[in-house]
Amino acid sequence: METKFIFITGGVVSSLGKGIISASLGKLLQARGYKVTIQKFDPYINIDPGTLNPYEHGECYVTEDGMETDLDLGHYERFTDIHTSRHNSITTGRIYKTVIDRERRGDYLGKTIQVVPHITDEIKRRMLREEEKDEQLDFVITEVGGTIGDIESAPFMEAIRQLRWQLGRSAVCIHLTYVPYLKAADELKTKPTQHSVKELQGMGIQPDILVLRTERHLDDAMRMKVASFCNVDVECVVQSEDMPSIYEVPISMQKQGLDAAVLRKMGIPVGETPAMVPWHEFLDKQRHATREVHIGLVGKYDLQDAYKSIRESLNLAGIYCDVKAKLHFINSEHITAENIGEQLSGCAGIVICPGFGQRGIEGKIIAAEYARTHDIPTFGICLGMQMMVIEFARNVLGYKDANSSEMDAQTPHNVIDMMEEQKSITQMGGTMRLGAYDCELMAGSRAAKAYDNQAIIRERHRHRYEFNNDYKSEYESHGMRCVGINPAANLVEIVEIPEKKWYIGAQFHPEYSSTVLHPHPLFKSFVEACINA
Ligand code: GLN
Repeated sequence: METKFIFITGGVVSSLGKGIISASLGKLLQARGYKVTIQKFDPYINIDPGTLNPYEHGECYVTEDGMETDLDLGHYERFTDIHTSRHNSITTGRIYKTVIDRERRGDYLGKTIQVVPHITDEIKRRMLREEEKDEQLDFVITEVGGTIGDIESAPFMEAIRQLRWQLGRSAVCIHLTYVPYLKAADELKTKPTQHSVKELQGMGIQPDILVLRTERHLDDAMRMKVASFCNVDVECVVQSEDMPSIYEVPISMQKQGLDAAVLRKMGIPVGETPAMVPWHEFLDKQRHATREVHIGLVGKYDLQDAYKSIRESLNLAGIYCDVKAKLHFINSEHITAENIGEQLSGCAGIVICPGFGQRGIEGKIIAAEYARTHDIPTFGICLGMQMMVIEFARNVLGYKDANSSEMDAQTPHNVIDMMEEQKSITQMGGTMRLGAYDCELMAGSRAAKAYDNQAIIRERHRHRYEFNNDYKSEYESHGMRCVGINPAANLVEIVEIPEKKWYIGAQFHPEYSSTVLHPHPLFKSFVEACINA
């Protein structure tokens, strides 16, 4: 089959869950046996979200090939098990950079470079994945960030308009809008949807399918009304009601025929509805996992989305262990030696979160010490692992001034130090140790057991600093073992204290590779330890 293209835009307000709808549709098409990828186009000027503060844009997600991307790629991967890459996350900044670099090389032969056609052509080229022609994809789902009417998304809309025309039935446009419920009037209102569709039509794009986000059920009359005002078939007006879990969304979309509507619009025979057995089994497990296990997230970003993949990984691991992981954010800036006991009370285990910079790190160190000395299951991720290492140096090895050279460049005991290859880098953005690297596991370690005794694993990274090997033997002789090593560079990737119930720090980010059907082994092992604690 020739590759088909699906464009997903959003209207009325942001945060409607376009990423979840894109991921759900990807899952449904996959279940029909199609080869799918999902890509995100973001209208901001940053080259990638790597330089964005998590408060602005939530977590930065990292692909296997080391691209720092939007957190929606995390949804895509968790739902579909697709491995996304640098081609799946594009920003206005990257589009402009490509065009400007080309202009500097003289490739345009003296032409005036303009938004239309040069920027729009570059957007189209990437939407069509011209560089990845050998992928043999059946469907490319393209989600455009932002909301219809934003000045900055106009070139993307123009590119979609042109592609729609050029591709004919091989392209479909899905528009996601919001239907608010007005309590005082006890009514659902479709007017914002009508306006949003008009705006889209004004840009020359007629949506084929509308997905209406709503907190209340929309009856057929309401859907009919939207259909007739917006020039859309009534069976192409799908509603996306609030669900107890985002993982119910694919099934809800399937019941309403979202995937079937896409296929019909493209003239592809619809065929049988896939049974989605493994997904239903997962949902059953989720519904039955009601016993709670409380886990503390020690971090500095008091924002749900800042630790999105960690939250989802814990949630998924819990479901596979038949429990509901109740997560409690513990702001590390407010942790003191005096209040730590109270702050962690009721937590069966803690995750010490990743991060950058000084703010909140002393709280993480206090939490690590408390958890170690009270034998509370502890999982340190990236900066979290580094804080476990520093705490151990200060309180077990006796180096009171031990630190990471990120926090104190002059520290005489730099147990965490900048990686050699990072020392000459001055540019920010895309310059850390990024993406997947091999890690050799020490046989018999708790980490190796968690990974089912695999000898070599591969995990994704995003950091500049590392465990300082000069101290390795001291750590080992005092009980903290380096049980995961990158064979090529001899970097320490995992530390653990074997005599504790579960005290493991990972320099990599396991949360990026935990999916609905394949929860991550370290998270599962950690949650099991929390249950048994
Ligand atoms: N700031 C630390 C480093 O660069 C940890 C990074 C992280 O937690 N992702 O090494």
